Amino acid sequence: MKKKYEYGECEICNTSMKASRIKQDFWIRGRLIVVEGVPAGVCPRCGERIVKADVGLWIAKLIEDSDRISKAPKIAVPTIKFDEKEVAA
Ligand SMILES: [Zn+2]
Repeated sequence: MKKKYEYGECEICNTSMKASRIKQDFWIRGRLIVVEGVPAGVCPRCGERIVKADVGLWIAKLIEDSDRISKAPKIAVPTIKFDEKEVAA
């Protein structure tokens, strides 16, 4: 059986990190890439997130894998352009 990984305490506020699965987004060369189900430690107090070194390495490899990225399913995201006229003077 796999031992549960201890994330320890948050570096920012010293609260115990909770093991969770997160959705992580990255901007790679102007493209938004979303990686789902990433095991991470999340701080319940300030929201700080940390990943284990091996998970970080896997993500680093993944975001360099342009072939895998181009074959991945796409999602549409709302895209809104800033409009100066809508900002009150
Ligand atoms: Zn924290």
